[in-house]
Amino acid sequence: MPSMTRSMYDSTNVFARILRGEIPATKIHETQRTLVIQDIFPQAPVHLLVLPKGAYTCFDDFMARASQEELIDLFSVVREVTRSKQLENTGYRIISNKGPEAGQEVPHFHIHILAGKKLGPLLGKDPSKEG
Ligand code: AMP
Repeated sequence: MPSMTRSMYDSTNVFARILRGEIPATKIHETQRTLVIQDIFPQAPVHLLVLPKGAYTCFDDFMARASQEELIDLFSVVREVTRSKQLENTGYRIISNKGPEAGQEVPHFHIHILAGKKLGPLLGKDPSKEG
């Protein structure tokens, strides 16, 4: 494991603490490598977070260091959960924020699954156009 990347992972982040069982979360689905929880501040009627159990800071880190099994498991879980919630017909959005400009708050890689209402445009108001 590259020590530079590994040392950047903050193991006190909230998802690391949930994964260690130190703080509670509403668990929706779990495999050996992946956990799905309910977002604590839902932005839509369905707002789930898909987390790898390994220590990865973001999508880029996950793609660079995760095993094939972890990669396949995480993306299979996204599909499994969207199907079990019967979202494939009505639609859903999957998002992963990476870094400060994207607004990543928790430095443990996660994919948001949003659904259950008309979600509208991908981005909110463009901050550069605000007066
Ligand atoms: P991001 O901005 O992409 O890092 O998203 C972080 C998400 O984690 C936000 O949607 C938060 O509402 C959510 N969140 C923060 N703390 C918790 C928690 N304890 N349990 C579940 N979700 C959380």
